[in-house]
Amino acid sequence: MHDPPTYRSTRGHGPVDLGEALVAGLALDGGLYLPDPLPRIPLPPAGRIGAVAVPVLEAFLGQGRAGWVPAALSFDTPLRPMGPRRYLLDLTRGPSAAFKDVGARFLAGALSELAAAPGGSRRTVLVATSGDTGGAVAAAFHGMPGLRVVVLFPAGAVSPRQRLQFTTLGDDVIALGVAGPFDACQRLVKEALSDEEMRSRHLLTSANSINIGRLLPQMVWYVKALSELEADGGPVTFVIPSGNLGNLCAGLLASELVGREARLVGAVNENQAWVDWLEGRAHRGRDTVATPSSAMDVGRPSNLERIEFLTDRTPRLRERLGGVSIDTTETLRTMRRHHAATGVFVDPHTAVGLAAADRVRTRGPVVVLSTADAGKFPETVRRATGALPPVPTALAGLDGRTEMWSPLEPTLDALRVALDSDRESST
Ligand SMILES: *Cc1c(COP(=O)(O)O)cnc(C)c1O
Repeated sequence: MHDPPTYRSTRGHGPVDLGEALVAGLALDGGLYLPDPLPRIPLPPAGRIGAVAVPVLEAFLGQGRAGWVPAALSFDTPLRPMGPRRYLLDLTRGPSAAFKDVGARFLAGALSELAAAPGGSRRTVLVATSGDTGGAVAAAFHGMPGLRVVVLFPAGAVSPRQRLQFTTLGDDVIALGVAGPFDACQRLVKEALSDEEMRSRHLLTSANSINIGRLLPQMVWYVKALSELEADGGPVTFVIPSGNLGNLCAGLLASELVGREARLVGAVNENQAWVDWLEGRAHRGRDTVATPSSAMDVGRPSNLERIEFLTDRTPRLRERLGGVSIDTTETLRTMRRHHAATGVFVDPHTAVGLAAADRVRTRGPVVVLSTADAGKFPETVRRATGALPPVPTALAGLDGRTEMWSPLEPTLDALRVALDSDRESST
């Protein structure tokens, strides 16, 4: 028996319990929460994701408190062989066909189980999205008691298929189309969370990957893959298509949790702050470059602060980290080659990972994480391969549904009025 860990900010604030860290999202001192001390468990036996999840997450939640977790992680993450000692870890089977489903579903369950609002009132979860996060969060929070989710999206810059995922649910899912770019949405979320009055009036929290609740469940698929590859020998190398580095950070925590020396290679597009950091170059605050792997178009990865904190404290971790940058030409070529060789479409994010894996030198097994279904990016897939991918089952049936969303001026006052009125207008 062991107590659940407490959580401490990378900038020192704490300790707090998990419920408090989940509700805060960002720590009060502006840092990011990490479990402190890091728990350790024996490597669990291979099994379905829901079964592996219980011992992994009990280490962070406390014993006997993970009863609801298998329901949150109820779809599998199969490890598909691609060649000698090469595997594709398929994380795309969730309700919005992207790996963010796992973090979003766990966070929704955790907030309603571990951090129920006092006196039966509702918490409001704000989420800014450039496309993918909104669908995963909306699907996860829809119907969860005591929570409403407010999705802020750039009205002119989200594809119709992505928008349908968060504008057709209704009930406790409110969609606001911001007159401005994604940056304006992200700024509004931060401003609202920093506004004492709005924060306490609506019990605001956030559902992006600064929230430790998005990271914890992502450890499960690393542990599951490590269990399945235990007999393969040699250190396992994970190649992770990366943007904000939340997934890579989860991999680092997971390998420490079960005491395995896995290597973690972050595969990035032209936005290569991660590679700069690894090579000791100061990041010069470069502008974000738009690429086909748009969920990875991040100039200042938020989770770098967690990774820096962990490697400063435990320098040996540094040796297990790697990074490769892949440009758009090579991404599209990889999508075309993979389709020609296997008949299977890959999405542009996974393609960055596949191209990066070709540059990894190791005798051990290599696992590339597949982060989204190709059918979510039909235009890019057609550009690369000349053919259209099938619509993922998870998204079939959305076309033609009635959308409900309200336009929003990009000001905090406009958001305050929208949160108070909680009306939806049909468009
Ligand atoms: C968010 C996302 C990523 C990047 O994940 P991080 O945890 O931010 O590094 C990669 N691929 C897809 C499809 C994503 O949606």
